[in-house]
Amino acid sequence: MSESDLLVDVAIVGGGPAGQGAAEQLVAAGLTVAVVDEQARPGGQILRQPPKTFSVRHWLPGRAYTGVKAQLARFEALPGIRWVGRTSVVGLFRGQGEYEYAMLLSGPEGGSRIQARFVLIAAGCYDLPAALPGWTLPGVMSAGGIQAFIKSQLLMPGERFVLTGTHPLQLVLADQILKGGGAVAAVLFAQPLLNAVAPLLRKPFTTLRHASTLIAAALCCLRLCRAGVPIRFGRTVRQVLGDRRVDGVILAPTLPGSTVQPAMMACDRVTLCFGFLPQSDLPRLAGADMTRNPSTGGWAATHNEWMRSSVPGLFVAGETTGVEGAEVALREGRLAGLGIALAAGRIALDAAEAKAGPTRAQLKPMKRFAAMLDELSSPASILPYLADKDTLICRCEDVTRADIEGALSGPMPPCSANALKLVTRAGMGLCQGRSCEHAILRIVAARMGSHNAPLPGFTPRFPIRPVSISSLTD
Ligand SMILES: Cc1cc2nc3c(=O)[nH]c(=O)nc-3n(C[C@H](O)[C@H](O)[C@H](O)COP(=O)(O)OP(=O)(O)OC[C@H]3O[C@@H](n4cnc5c(N)ncnc54)[C@H](O)[C@@H]3O)c2cc1C
Repeated sequence: MSESDLLVDVAIVGGGPAGQGAAEQLVAAGLTVAVVDEQARPGGQILRQPPKTFSVRHWLPGRAYTGVKAQLARFEALPGIRWVGRTSVVGLFRGQGEYEYAMLLSGPEGGSRIQARFVLIAAGCYDLPAALPGWTLPGVMSAGGIQAFIKSQLLMPGERFVLTGTHPLQLVLADQILKGGGAVAAVLFAQPLLNAVAPLLRKPFTTLRHASTLIAAALCCLRLCRAGVPIRFGRTVRQVLGDRRVDGVILAPTLPGSTVQPAMMACDRVTLCFGFLPQSDLPRLAGADMTRNPSTGGWAATHNEWMRSSVPGLFVAGETTGVEGAEVALREGRLAGLGIALAAGRIALDAAEAKAGPTRAQLKPMKRFAAMLDELSSPASILPYLADKDTLICRCEDVTRADIEGALSGPMPPCSANALKLVTRAGMGLCQGRSCEHAILRIVAARMGSHNAPLPGFTPRFPIRPVSISSLTD
């Protein structure tokens, strides 16, 4: 321990709805709390607050944002929270003694450390990277990347967009692009319309219960249709065209065997939206048990009814535990806050149960709806068809699909993801496999005739984000 270490009862990674929901309970229980976030301001991915120097009228209007904005206002009014913004948590280590956890940070002032009795990882999720021919050209962006520009900087990062993917967020984003003054050339859903609708019909009670969300999506569709934006199902971008930047796409039926001919479409931005992956590097680094989502392939941290992970003193909440939306994240954060207060002896079990009961009751139908969304937007059967042999899978180290398949079909095929990494260098670059790990596991799975690889992924290593040497020497 050094004199400059910040000492707190609870260190939270992530100031999104989950981290905020937990902080509220922890402050009420009299615990000291630090919240670390790579964003300058709290709000998480769903809100992405503009800089303090911006004054924005009608910022993120609409019912979808009402609950999370109210939560943000409560969080910002909490007394005594230590907010550590623009700072990445790059390592998490467990030791002995009163402050069991050491959290290593890298921020604008270099490296620093927090010592904490308990840790909550509420680090959210990130866009599932979908490798298809041309996806590394400047102008191809994730849906989240585009939203980050629109929400936090009020900028439209392009003029004419083609959106391709499987996730319904595409409709919301296309609507936001139109409202922001951009043009949308097409919204392409890779799954057939029936796949997108069947889960809604199979579970009519869940569908009816969340009718307002579905009506909001339908209204987005209506506005897009009125603006002349084509929405197509069973179609995807087969190739992004351009020399130094995007100038168009070839779109075609998703699955082979269709008689519909591929067509060219001009655009200067391509948006990929095939779903989201939980931020899993920190819980994996800490040795927590994880499960694999069969639809996106992402790793989610498992937990008990108080959101405690398999590692003592380490709690998880929000999309680190599975991608289920902001309202679920907020409630899981509250449960984690109560769970930590309980473990710290700051609340009695019956009082904690009384507070947790209504939250758990609210979570049940929300989780059913999230499972339905997961099913209707599943890219599992589509992703294996997107990349051709020359497509870069690991863009940090320039490793193509052919390189990976070549290694797998050699005389001594690597028998683990780590071995494949050593042979091909895929996953050794700056992003440490965040971008390519899942694509690689899918290629391995496809060779085994499955959509789900049984392999464990790469072993997570400190630092989980690129850091400067000076941060480390600090
Ligand atoms: C780009 C993007 C856009 C989205 N847009 C919408 C939307 O418009 N509508 C919607 O309903 N849902 C949206 N979602 C889903 C939405 O993020 C969640 O439903 C909700 O925000 C989850 O809350 P959370 O607290 O679990 O995580 P988040 O809100 O994602 O908060 C997690 C926070 O942790 C921080 N963090 C992560 N790792 C580290 C680290 N190592 N060090 C420091 N800080 C870290 C992140 O900066 C982030 O602020 C979006 C998701 C993404 C990824």
